[in-house]
Amino acid sequence: MANVLEQKVNDFMAKVIAKNPAEVEFHQAVHEVVESLIPYIEENPKYKEAKVLERMIEPERVILFRVPWIDDKGEIQVNKGFRIEMNSAIGPYKGGLRFHPTVNLGILKFLAFEQVFKNSLTTLPMGGGKGGSDFDPKGKSDNEVMRFCQSFMTELSKHIGPNTDVPAGDIGVGGREIGFLFGQYKRIRNEFTGVLTGKGLEWGGSKIRPEATGYGATYFAQEMLKEKGEDLNGMIVAVSGSGNVAQFATEKVTELGGKVVTLSDSSGFIYDPDGIDEEKLKFVMRLKNVKRGRIKEYADKYGCEYHEGKRPWSVKCDVALPSATQNEINEEEAKILVNNGCKVVSEGANMPSTPEAVEVFQNNAILYGPGKAANAGGVAVSGLEMSQNSLRLSWTREEVDQRLQQIMKDIHETCVKYGKKDDGSVDYVKGANIGGFVKVADAMLAQGAV
Ligand code: NDP
Repeated sequence: MANVLEQKVNDFMAKVIAKNPAEVEFHQAVHEVVESLIPYIEENPKYKEAKVLERMIEPERVILFRVPWIDDKGEIQVNKGFRIEMNSAIGPYKGGLRFHPTVNLGILKFLAFEQVFKNSLTTLPMGGGKGGSDFDPKGKSDNEVMRFCQSFMTELSKHIGPNTDVPAGDIGVGGREIGFLFGQYKRIRNEFTGVLTGKGLEWGGSKIRPEATGYGATYFAQEMLKEKGEDLNGMIVAVSGSGNVAQFATEKVTELGGKVVTLSDSSGFIYDPDGIDEEKLKFVMRLKNVKRGRIKEYADKYGCEYHEGKRPWSVKCDVALPSATQNEINEEEAKILVNNGCKVVSEGANMPSTPEAVEVFQNNAILYGPGKAANAGGVAVSGLEMSQNSLRLSWTREEVDQRLQQIMKDIHETCVKYGKKDDGSVDYVKGANIGGFVKVADAMLAQGAV
């Protein structure tokens, strides 16, 4: 039976690869999902007959556009703009915008595909999408970023709307960029609506939205530990990245009694065995969000180790929270983490572990929370921002945080429901994939061949 299923997975993947050549990250994301789903679909033939999986891997719509803008020297620059509208079976398309030079169609399709499952897991009515540009905000002036965002939105505004498609931030798109994008949308459409999430608090944003992904990944780690009768208090935690997700994961871990000892950026990582406390985190936030400097400056200021060009996984830790980018933990690094006693991996980033690394975690009974479950807190609070916008109300910090905690608990429970193994342990990959699939697939069945 195992061989038959393996063959079905291989046959399915051969078609995916032939139809979507050169989109390696998309192949990787689909493969990880179909490994869990094909056995489930064989047991539930209604999904097979309706070709639900075949439909889910094909975006409902892909929008590709030119983004011309003028730099500070008066020269015209041209970037690519994308929006992948992947699946709207359970709600408007929802998912972030990424501005990074590595952005291409395959990366955005992988992110949009994962987003469909993630959004379904949050229990909120959101379909899946993703978008962005190969524009690099690093080294650009605020005025250049503004002109780029205005040009990007001039085209994107034709395709999005509060009941159609609601983008948010991702790598390279934070509060500054969302502000410029929202301003341009409002100007073009002459309407003040919740068309983007991650907005400022004065103009329709939700409390806890900036914190939500990092807090959520930490809550998810806590839930996995609780399942084993343990918690984060006293644990040593390695965090990668130093952007939005990494910063707020660090804040929440510290609040829960853990000690974060690493942060990184694309140039290297810092190791601070004394822990990144509240005051040091404030320095990081100023460094990254205002000065837009490099993490090395942390080591210069606090006199700790800095490892140029390296990732933080060689450091001894109990918990790893990868919060930078895709494929940032490879097989060798996963083995080092396991050998150093790491017992929990909760993915703040999307697909940060390679398939080989995931196998290492699963073979060594690591509590491994895949991104589509562990980092769903961000989009969950984006969903709550949409609700507040529709109600024209603003909930308190405590109320939003409480809802976020409940959603992370519910996601954990869904993973347990669909991923519990005979020996009592939980396969969170299987649990998240099937748990995210069922609601979307049932909606697609109900809506006919669309
Ligand atoms: P930010 O842009 O705020 O921060 C990204 C961080 O990761 C930076 O420290 C950046 O370093 C580092 N990084 C980016 N690309 C690379 C790379 N190729 N190699 C090494 N380091 C890199 O983004 P976010 O914190 O918002 O996003 C981080 C991850 O979390 C992404 O995978 C994103 O998809 C995921 N995520 C984010 C959500 C959100 O709400 N923001 C929601 C769910 C998932 P440098 O500055 O040097 O580029």
